[in-house]
Amino acid sequence: MPLLKAEGKTFPTRTQVLIIGAGACGTIAALAANERGAEVLILERDAKPTGSTSLSGGQIPAAGTKLQRAAGLMDDTPEILANDLINKAHGECDHEIAWHIARESAKTIDWLVDRYKLPLSCILDFQYPGHSRMHMHASPSRFGAELLAALLNAVEAEHIPLATSARVTDLYADPDGRIRGVRVTRPDGKTEDMGCDALILACCGYGGDKAMIAKHIPEMTDAHYHGHPGNTGDAVKWGEDLGASVKDMGSFQGHGAVATPHATHIGWPAITEGGYQVNKHGKRFSNENAGYSEQALKVTHQPDHVAWLIFDERGHSIAMQMHSHVDAQNAGALKVCNTPDEIAKVVGCDAATLAQTMAEVADCAGGKKKDPFGRDFSTKPALKAPYRVVKIMGALFHTQGGLEINKEMRVLRKDGTPFPNLFAGGGAARGLSGPADWGYLSGSGLLTATNMGRLAGEAAAALVKR
Ligand SMILES: Cc1cc2nc3c(=O)[nH]c(=O)nc-3n(C[C@H](O)[C@H](O)[C@H](O)COP(=O)(O)OP(=O)(O)OC[C@H]3O[C@@H](n4cnc5c(N)ncnc54)[C@H](O)[C@@H]3O)c2cc1C
Repeated sequence: MPLLKAEGKTFPTRTQVLIIGAGACGTIAALAANERGAEVLILERDAKPTGSTSLSGGQIPAAGTKLQRAAGLMDDTPEILANDLINKAHGECDHEIAWHIARESAKTIDWLVDRYKLPLSCILDFQYPGHSRMHMHASPSRFGAELLAALLNAVEAEHIPLATSARVTDLYADPDGRIRGVRVTRPDGKTEDMGCDALILACCGYGGDKAMIAKHIPEMTDAHYHGHPGNTGDAVKWGEDLGASVKDMGSFQGHGAVATPHATHIGWPAITEGGYQVNKHGKRFSNENAGYSEQALKVTHQPDHVAWLIFDERGHSIAMQMHSHVDAQNAGALKVCNTPDEIAKVVGCDAATLAQTMAEVADCAGGKKKDPFGRDFSTKPALKAPYRVVKIMGALFHTQGGLEINKEMRVLRKDGTPFPNLFAGGGAARGLSGPADWGYLSGSGLLTATNMGRLAGEAAAALVKR
C-alpha cells in the first residue's frame, strides 16, 4: 500500500470527492456529498459490492428518531445512547466523538428514511446487552445485504458513479499529506490513475489481513473471521505511511455464538431471553449476557475452542426474525431436544453434569440462587422444553481500531492537526469501543459507518465547494 509522490504528477481524470469502498460508509458518504453538489466517484475493489455491511445483521442504533416516536418509544435521547456507548467501553473511547455520533444518529436515520426511502423499522421485542433503550433500527429481514442493496439503489437513482473491480492500491500525496489522487489496480493487473480534491477512506478495517491481526489482536489469530475478506487494512496502512494517528488497534467486534461448522451466527435473543452456553464437559463458563463481542474469546478459550448454546422457543422465535438465525435453522445447526439427557447426547458430555448445570440455571432464574458468574437470570422466565441446542465457536466480525478522526471525520496527524483533504469513517476510523473486545456496544459498527459516512460526505463536499 505505498504512498506515491504527487509532485509533478498529472492525472488523466479528476473528480472532486473520491470515496474508497462501497459499504454502508462509502455509499452514505456518496449520497451526502452528492446532495451538496459535489462531483463524486466511488471506487470498490469487488466486482459486486458486498463488504461487511452485507454480511451484517443490518441493525443500526439511533436515539430520538421519527420511527422510534411513531413506535411509541418516546424516552430515548442522544444522552442515553452516548452514555450506553461510553459505559460499554468503560469510558475508554473518545467521548467527544461518541457524543457527536449519538447526537447525529437520529438525523442520519430520519434522512435515510425520508429522502432515500430506506425500509427501516424499530426492533421492539428485545434489547442487546448494554442498550438501556430500544435503539435498534433495521430493514425487514434484519440482514445487511438488504440494507446495502437499498443504499446501492439510492446511489444508482442519484446517478452517482460507482466503479467496481477497482482496487485502490496507492495514494498520491504531497509532503504535507494533501491527497492529489489514487492509483487503481484492475483484476487483470492494469492500473489507472485518478485525481481528486478530497478523499474519503470508507474501506473498513483489517480483519482480512492475517498479519495485521497477528500483530494487533494476537488472541484472535486462529479464530474464524466472519467479516468481508477484502477488508485488508488499507486505510490504516496508508494512514501509518502518512503519519496519521492510529488508535485502539487491539479492539474488535467479536461474536460468541457462530454455529460450527455452518459458519452462520445465532441471533443474540437466544441469549438475552435466558439461553446459556456450556462447554464439552456440560459446564457453564461465563456470564453470557455481558455482550456478544467479549463472548467470542470466552468461547475460544474452552476445550477444543467450542461450546454449545442452549435456548428455548421464546428466544428462538425472536431470533428467527434475523436472517443469519434462519440460515442456521435451515442448515440444520439447531438440534431440538426435550430433556437434559438428549442435550447431553448432542454435547457428548456426562448427562448428570449437564442436568445439574441446567437445574442450577433454573434456580437462578427462580431467584433461589445467585449465578456464580454474576449474570442476572431472574429478569426472564426459566427455559422450558423443547430446547434448541447448537454447537458454536467464537469469531472475529470486524476490527475496531483505526484512523483517529475529528468531528468532521477529518483524519488527524499524530500531533492532532487534520490532514488537508483526507476523511475516514466506518471501520476505517477508530471505533467507539475502547481498546479491546469488551467495549463493543451492539450496533456500534453500523452506527459509525452510517453517521461517519454522512458526516464525512458533508464535510468533504463543503471543503471542495469552498
Ligand atoms: C456477520 C456480521 C454481522 C454484523 N452485524 C452488525 C449489526 O447488526 N449492526 C452493526 O452495527 N454492525 C454489525 N456488524 C459490523 C458492520 O457490518 C460493520 O461495522 C460495517 O458494515 C462497516 O461498514 P463499512 O462501510 O465501514 O465497511 P464495509 O461494509 O466492509 O465496506 C468496505 C468496502 O471497502 C472495500 N474495499 C476495501 N479495501 C479497498 C480498496 N483498497 N479499494 C477499493 N475498495 C476497497 C471492500 O470491498 C468493501 O466493499 C456486523 C459484522 C459482521 C461481519
